[in-house]
Amino acid sequence: MAELVNLRNLLDHEIEDLYSAEEQIIEALPLMAENATDRELKRTLKEHLRITKEQKRRLDQVKKLLKKEAQEGEGSGGFLERMFGGSEGTKCRGMEGLIQEGQKMMGEEMDPSVKDAAIIASSQKIEHYEISGYGTARAYAKELGLRDVERLLAATLKEEYTADKLLNVLALNKVNLKAEKGGGASKGGSKASSKASSKGAAKKGSSSSKGASSKKAASKKTAGRKAAR
Ligand code: FE
Ligand code: ZN
Ligand code: FE
Repeated sequence: MAELVNLRNLLDHEIEDLYSAEEQIIEALPLMAENATDRELKRTLKEHLRITKEQKRRLDQVKKLLKKEAQEGEGSGGFLERMFGGSEGTKCRGMEGLIQEGQKMMGEEMDPSVKDAAIIASSQKIEHYEISGYGTARAYAKELGLRDVERLLAATLKEEYTADKLLNVLALNKVNLKAEKGGGASKGGSKASSKASSKGAAKKGSSSSKGASSKKAASKKTAGRKAAR
């Protein structure tokens, strides 16, 4: 990696990292959609694939803008090379890990309803990673006065939040409930106690998304669910 001497260099790096993340997601999503059983979940994942391809194109625009801005600012080729030679071709190891973990989970034997819940869990981890990355990059662009770049990154950030929220609603209204019942209804020995513990786990699980945007949606939905009983 080239030496990072300022925030602008770090922004270039983050953009390359996000670019790699989006590319990996584009490769991973079809298999996740294929493994999903719930139709709505399948549709949501396929729709996010379409959006993700758009996001990759948006990053192409960002890279073009950054390159142009750097060329206008500096005449020296050596400096330019330092800026763009280093991060290009970066592989986002964070996303690689999240995807690998999700794929490993999908390979496990489990009830289809439980697999759907697991797919949502790993999708939300991916969304949260992206939300973090785009949030940071947008803040850098803003700090650097790169308005057009900031706007493009903000547009994607908004889409990632929306994707996370959709998954959250799907989990809390449907998929977690199905998984709670599971396919092993016949096995049910001590129903009451197993139900109580699975509920506790579900509450702490991904879909209540403590650290994320989805907090509000989650608590609202949980409240709604309680009221409906
Ligand atoms: Fe994305
Ligand atoms: Zn990374
Ligand atoms: Fe995404």
